[in-house]
Amino acid sequence: MASTAKLPVLVIEDEASIRRGLCDVLAFHGLAPEGIERGDDGLAAALRNQHALVVLDVMLPGMNGFDVCRALRAQLPHLPILMLTARGAESDVLDGFQAGADDYVTKPFSVAELVARVEALLRRTGARSVEEAAPPFTLGAWSVDPSGLRAERDGRSVELTRRETELLALFAREPGRILSRRLLLREVWGFPDPDRVETRTVDMHVAKLRKKLAAGGDALFETIRGEGYRFVG
Ligand code: CA
Repeated sequence: MASTAKLPVLVIEDEASIRRGLCDVLAFHGLAPEGIERGDDGLAAALRNQHALVVLDVMLPGMNGFDVCRALRAQLPHLPILMLTARGAESDVLDGFQAGADDYVTKPFSVAELVARVEALLRRTGARSVEEAAPPFTLGAWSVDPSGLRAERDGRSVELTRRETELLALFAREPGRILSRRLLLREVWGFPDPDRVETRTVDMHVAKLRKKLAAGGDALFETIRGEGYRFVG
C-alpha cells in the first residue's frame, strides 16, 4: 500500500483500546484512519466523508453494526466493509454478509490477519476504481460487467455484489469444472484454511446468485453433493 496516497479508512469500534490499536496499525500500514466510537456517529461520518474502507464492529452504542452496514450498503453500494465479529458467533458472520459486509475478521483478531483482509479488500476495489476496470465477461446467456456490478440478459439487468461478481468470474473461467467450496473460499474469499462457517457462506452466496439469475427455470449452477458447484448454464 506504500505506493498510493494515504487512503482514508473509517474504524467504528467502541472499545477505546481496540479502536486505538486498529488506527495505529492501519496508520503504520500507510492508511489514514479515522476512529469513531458510536454506530450512529460512524454512519454519519461514512456518509459525510469518502472512505476507501470501513472497519465495523457489531456491538456498538447508538446503532449496532448490522444496521450501520445495511444503511451504508443502501447508500454506498461500492464501499468495502470489513466487520469485526465475535469468535464462534456463526450467526454474526452470516448476519454480517446478509447486511452487505464484504468480509469479516473474528475477535480477538491477529493484526496480521486484519491487515491482510484490509489489503485484500483495498486491492479488489483499487483494481476497479484506480487502475483499469475489470473487463466484462459472459457466463451462459448473461453478460457480466464487473466494474458496474451488474449482469444483463435479454434486456434484464440484475445488480450484483462484489463477491457475487467474483464468484461469477471464477465460474466463467472454469466452465464445466466442479469448483469445491474450499477452492471458492480460497479464490474468492481468500481464506487459506476454511472451516464449516465459511463453507456455509459459500452456499449462502451461491443460493442468492441462483435466485438473482434465475430465468426460465434453467439451472446456472449445479450442486455436486459433497463436492461443490459446477457452472452448467
Ligand atoms: Ca463493541
